[in-house]
Amino acid sequence: MSSTPDSPNLSAPRIIPRAEHGISRANISDHALKVLYRLKDAGFRACLVGGGVRDLLLGREPKDFDVATDAHPDEVRRLFRNCRLIGRRFRLAHVHFGSEIIEVATFRAPHATIDDDEGEGGDALMEDGRIIRDNVYGTIEQDAWRRDFTVNALYYDIQDFSVIDYTGGMEDLKNGVLRLIGDPQLRYREDPVRMLRAVRFAGKLGFRLHPESETLIPQFSDLLSAVSSARLFDEVLKLFHGGYALQTFELLRHYGLFGYLFPATEEALSHEEQGFPITFVANALRNTDERIRETKGVNPAFLYAALLWEPVRLHAQSLMQHGVLELAALQAAGSALLDSQLHHTAIPKRFGLPMREIWELQSRFEQRQGGRVLRFLQHPRFRAAYDFFCLRARSGETDPELCEWWARIQEVDEDERRQMIENSGGNARSGARRRRRPRKKKPNADA
Ligand code: ATP
Ligand code: MG
Repeated sequence: MSSTPDSPNLSAPRIIPRAEHGISRANISDHALKVLYRLKDAGFRACLVGGGVRDLLLGREPKDFDVATDAHPDEVRRLFRNCRLIGRRFRLAHVHFGSEIIEVATFRAPHATIDDDEGEGGDALMEDGRIIRDNVYGTIEQDAWRRDFTVNALYYDIQDFSVIDYTGGMEDLKNGVLRLIGDPQLRYREDPVRMLRAVRFAGKLGFRLHPESETLIPQFSDLLSAVSSARLFDEVLKLFHGGYALQTFELLRHYGLFGYLFPATEEALSHEEQGFPITFVANALRNTDERIRETKGVNPAFLYAALLWEPVRLHAQSLMQHGVLELAALQAAGSALLDSQLHHTAIPKRFGLPMREIWELQSRFEQRQGGRVLRFLQHPRFRAAYDFFCLRARSGETDPELCEWWARIQEVDEDERRQMIENSGGNARSGARRRRRPRKKKPNADA
């Protein structure tokens, strides 16, 4: 097997001088500039690279700024007091400025396989063609060729403000093409997550995959099963919390990749109920995108609750058909689904617990007796459960009037609240538990 999968024909890069590209320092974060200048003043090469350069060239606001340098991580640490070294797979320096982190990576060389690893290259570790560890430092050219897509391998050099292009990224950027650098087969094999990254960038940028990078996906998608569930958890957040969740979801399904992340959901969606498309996940993701656009918070527990709801709902429904009460059915279905999902993506407990609570609380919106209503409104997870319930209502799963009722009761004063509860057949006195409350009206029930 070849030892340097993307062994490039190292040739002169295309250099786009300052006057011929649209990147202005005014659009680069002050913290990133500070890092670049301090590295440069200490005699190191320092460039902005990756999504920051790509997005600036496209006139978009970068999500974050990554710096690449010939300084080694220890040298970076010596230059910045607010610096931490992280990562095992890649050793990186994180320079902290309040909530902003500038990631500084040392230029890396293509990795060697274990076979021809001669001691010095002991930092690169491969397993079944996959890169497990990769810390061999190299030149800027080598660093460019080991990146994933050509449009992600453009460097903005702080020395002269030029853009340096080794892999043809400028041309691909102009044409809206995502092209893997090097041999696509090897690049997917080395790191199957690149398939997810391809879809993420296609969703976000509206780019199309280069035919070779695209046609190999069905052949290589199975490799995603071998990726650690912790890495896939992180990747899911990047896929769905990047502001383009809906397009990304559709593309993941189109390329047959969604099922590797959420097999139970893929299975549930594949048997859409006769004539009724299942719109809940799409509605939830559209809502997530809107919240991000409005700079409202988004929460992984809510996202996972939404992505996994369809199979939970179906399982709970079938338990209820066998006489199990709604809350118990949701608990059982939720717990079974969480167990099976953990084989695919990790879900840390701090998200798994509130996720299950969001599901279980769905059983409380039908109950409108006074004490329960007031206690429910105080529940720390009420708001998330309510938003979830309304998404269900919008998707035709529950009564939209109930959603409106719960919207109103959060806004009105105490008197009106009492009135609303009484009108709905409940009892407004706080804490009162009337056993003999009138049953909730059902059609024809009082005929
Ligand atoms: P985003 O806008 O989401 O931050 P990004 O392109 O900056 O997009 P990051 O995950 O921040 O993506 O990675 C920074 C850069 O590191 C990428 O642009 C790419 O050059 C390189 N990179 C990241 N992940 C990989 C990978 N799996 N294989 C090869 N190169 C990668
Ligand atoms: Mg980035």
